[in-house]
Amino acid sequence: MPRKMTKLGQHFLIDHYTINMIVGYVVSNSNYNLVEIGPGMGALTIPVLGLGHDITAIELDSNIVPKLQAKSGCGDRLKVINKDALHVDFSELPHDSGLCVFGNLPYQISALLMLRLGQYDGLVKKMIFMVQKEVALRLAAAPGTHEYGRLSVMVQAWCEIKIVLAVAKDCFSPPPKVESSVFIATPRVRMSTAAMDWDLFEKVVRLAFRHKRKMCYSSFKQFLTVDQWHDLGFSATLRPSDLSVEDYISLTKHIQNNVPLDIFVSNA
Ligand code: SAH
Repeated sequence: MPRKMTKLGQHFLIDHYTINMIVGYVVSNSNYNLVEIGPGMGALTIPVLGLGHDITAIELDSNIVPKLQAKSGCGDRLKVINKDALHVDFSELPHDSGLCVFGNLPYQISALLMLRLGQYDGLVKKMIFMVQKEVALRLAAAPGTHEYGRLSVMVQAWCEIKIVLAVAKDCFSPPPKVESSVFIATPRVRMSTAAMDWDLFEKVVRLAFRHKRKMCYSSFKQFLTVDQWHDLGFSATLRPSDLSVEDYISLTKHIQNNVPLDIFVSNA
């Protein structure tokens, strides 16, 4: 495969069943402003436009943009932004009813994009993405499983992930090396995270997972006594993958309220 295609993750969807399923999920969320990441030659874009819904699309490949505009024949109803999706300020896109962001994501940006979208408080209402199966499993993983890690905790703290479709390699042209999955992500109503410092949360989760096999208590023992650890409802033998997302939220809030931030940051 030419180098540029690998870098841009250009694997175009050709399987009608998969296309119809994803388009169905997108259209059922068309009460929100639709934003597509990586429209390519329009495998998803054109059917969604055809059903009467406007789209703002973000496409990095400048060669593709005019071809897509011409192929769609939709004039202003398709607005293409020629940029890296990781450098777009999503709050500047039309969003009067909130955003539904969707796409067959270039694999190298999928995890980072999920973390970035979480930083816009309340802006994103739904996400429908196809990613590498292994990334989808990490995003959706439950505590105690092999796939559960930093990415699962960081993303699940702001949204619920449901894998809805498995997609085989031959559904794409050219076929990728790995299987894919489609997932739907719905932001949580942020009850427990309302007063939480998200930067601190990121640091707490990073510190916990720095050593996956190490007992969590020992990673935090400079900041919390064993009594405080027990007061949080945790046993001293828990490992990072045993703590739920809610546990990490409680741990962060406890540190936020009891440990001066500069002490935490300089010792973490
Ligand atoms: N949606 C199309 C194309 C998917 S391939 C289909 O399903 O057939 C992934 C697309 O994302 C390609 O068009 C690629 O050029 C684009 N892309 C790659 N990196 C990107 C980035 N950082 N930001 C926006 N688009 C990107």
